[in-house]
Amino acid sequence: MLDNPLAPPWLIRPGDANALESPLWPATAQRTPSGELAIGGVSASRLAADYGTPLYVVDEADARARAARTREAFVSAFAAHGSSATVYYASKALLTTEVARWMVEAGLRLDVASGGELAVALAAGVDPALLGLHGNNKSLAEIDRAVAAGVGTIVLDSLEEVERVADAAQRHDRTQSVRLRINSGVHAHTHEYLATAREDQKFGIPLADASDAVGAIRARPSLRFLGLHSHIGSQIFRLDGFLEAARRLLAVHAELLAGGDVPELNLGGGFGIAYVVGDAPPAIEDIATGLAEAVAGVCRELSIPMPAVAVEPGRTIVGPAGVTLYEVGTTKDVAVALDDGGSAVRRYVSVDGGMSDNARPALYGADYSVRLASRSSAVDPVLVRLAGKHCESGDIVVQADWLPGDVAAGDLVAVPATGAYCFSLASNYNYLVRPAVVAVRDGTARTLVRRETEHDLLRRDTGYNPIDQGVSE
Ligand SMILES: *Cc1c(COP(=O)(O)O)cnc(C)c1O
Repeated sequence: MLDNPLAPPWLIRPGDANALESPLWPATAQRTPSGELAIGGVSASRLAADYGTPLYVVDEADARARAARTREAFVSAFAAHGSSATVYYASKALLTTEVARWMVEAGLRLDVASGGELAVALAAGVDPALLGLHGNNKSLAEIDRAVAAGVGTIVLDSLEEVERVADAAQRHDRTQSVRLRINSGVHAHTHEYLATAREDQKFGIPLADASDAVGAIRARPSLRFLGLHSHIGSQIFRLDGFLEAARRLLAVHAELLAGGDVPELNLGGGFGIAYVVGDAPPAIEDIATGLAEAVAGVCRELSIPMPAVAVEPGRTIVGPAGVTLYEVGTTKDVAVALDDGGSAVRRYVSVDGGMSDNARPALYGADYSVRLASRSSAVDPVLVRLAGKHCESGDIVVQADWLPGDVAAGDLVAVPATGAYCFSLASNYNYLVRPAVVAVRDGTARTLVRRETEHDLLRRDTGYNPIDQGVSE
């Protein structure tokens, strides 16, 4: 019997376990004539030999194209209703100086959520006017630095921040544009959304307090109020949660118009991508059109002018453009008892990384997929679990997928859709060095962030003397 009762119901045994299914893989991913995976025209074995594994590989052309396509989708969808749209790239998804420049070159602005992210964006040479600063607990130093640098907008997350940012702007003799983050009571998951009076979470201020907060903003001449902001969650496939949040925000937005200008509405990010076969996220054009129609409809009902709209996607822009390469070490067939008294075998394929380079399965129970990368194989597929090398049984990269049954030590495997929230969430657990990030394009690879060395691991340790210890670079 070739099927395996341990496979989750959605995981169909593939006819061809070498196939690179759309839309999981970057645009330029393909099999070479010899059967290897290549991305951006560079083979997996070449990348592994030059940069080591694990390795984050980013399809540069794909990331740039997704950024441009997202901007175009929102600009044209809102132009069709006589309005305009601004797209911010949520940089926490994947931020290096070079990625920041790709986004700006594609016409996007950039959201940062900490002093560190701000520092990277500034180091990239991004015009500070294109930056938005987020965060529910910005330090006074972060606020001061952002205002001094001239960031375009700051998203205020609490009443205290109204005064903190106003004071900083006054000190620097600037008028700081601000948005106000609202806790809309709408929280969306992939398949449903939850709407309450106030969601039990740390971000934003309740809708009911928005009017007072905006009054406080308008009372400070050093602040310029742009509009309300809402971000309802991540990896969302359905539009209804966004529409409900927009409806709630626009009702308050309409009331605020009585007291002055409200030029904008920011609907956040959180659009979903495919991680496994069967995931069918909507096209970005359909998201943009759906949001534009809904905002236009509500504005007609409320008899208010349509505001300019801003959105902040991260995952949809870089997630599908990235792939992680690993080398297989050990494989084990583990017999698993079934409820019906029988048993089945799960093959554990262990790789040279794990939760330190991809925390999402351990953190959120996220699902991923895997394919052989250094070769193809016609051997019948077996159900595998791709495990890492950390000292945790929850250190799993891919819960379940099918790989050719001859998968063995020394093979390279590739996990798609790792462009977002993998490098960003990486750690040095077990003192593993963090992988390099390379961009591939037109047959060449370039380092965006080099691989760490043991020296990097030890350099903050005050007992470390690099002169007399044999640490490898
Ligand atoms: C994380 C975040 C985003 C981006 O979310 P994605 O799921 O990557 O699109 C946008 N806005 C805010 C406020 C966020 O915290």
